[in-house]
Amino acid sequence: MVDLSPSPPESARPYRGRLAPTPTGHLHLGHAKTFWIAQRRAEQAGGTLILRIEDLDRDRCKPQYANDLLEDLTWFGFRWQEGPDVGGEAGPYIQQARRSFYQHIWRRLSQTGAIYPSPHSRKDVALALSAPQEGDREVIFPPKLRPATWEPATEPGNVNWRFRVLDGETITFTDENLGTQSFTAGKDFGDFIVWRRDGFPSYELAVVADDHAMEITEVVRGEDLLLSSAKQILLYRTLGWEIPAFYHCPLVRDEEGRRLAKRDKSRSLRSLRHRGVSPEQIRTQWTHPNPLK
Ligand code: GLU
Repeated sequence: MVDLSPSPPESARPYRGRLAPTPTGHLHLGHAKTFWIAQRRAEQAGGTLILRIEDLDRDRCKPQYANDLLEDLTWFGFRWQEGPDVGGEAGPYIQQARRSFYQHIWRRLSQTGAIYPSPHSRKDVALALSAPQEGDREVIFPPKLRPATWEPATEPGNVNWRFRVLDGETITFTDENLGTQSFTAGKDFGDFIVWRRDGFPSYELAVVADDHAMEITEVVRGEDLLLSSAKQILLYRTLGWEIPAFYHCPLVRDEEGRRLAKRDKSRSLRSLRHRGVSPEQIRTQWTHPNPLK
């Protein structure tokens, strides 16, 4: 079985974890492994597991993939207590249905003066569309492009909004799996997009808003999102919200050492299932690794 130590953190709040897939393709072994750890940690803590569909990238997300992932997760043995198919008090559990909520959070951020309108470049917009992928180089927004002053606004308008970081500030947090992590603003990341000119929040803002609203106490996800956690901590802090615990999981790699991606169709849960591989076989491979062909 997957190593689950250390145990889920003690928290005054009842444990609530989440699976947060993006329906841009079929789920692969990497998702299954991370999600399995998330599910086991929720079970171990006697907590609640939530399924949230992260479909803000309208160009790449497809309703068919959202349907398929429900089926694939169920086949694999995932069970969630709240989600788009079973409901729950913290819904809706599909990000596309939460736009007015995100606008509300944008307004609160704007009132703090921590975010500013920023003319965009295409590349910045593309990067803000989704959770970062391994291999994406972090583009540090040049401080000289910051406006000298800006007014808090009541509507975002058709412009990107960025969170203004304090250059030189180091964000340190303890990851429940990987230990102490530190990232420095201005060096590891710069002013990052929180709102996109097309009227949607960025990944960073949407995830923080949702994890807070859904009362998530521990975020379990792939280690490619470690840097995102540092940015997200800044959003929690600015909004005055309790920061959840983080548990980042190692990425699953192919024989060449590349991280699995949705384009690796042969490693999708769907194709493994169609080839007669069982979930138990997959889980056994996690302790006795031998690539599934
Ligand atoms: N939806 C994101 C992804 O599929 C994960 C976000 C998260 O766990 O914070 O990469």
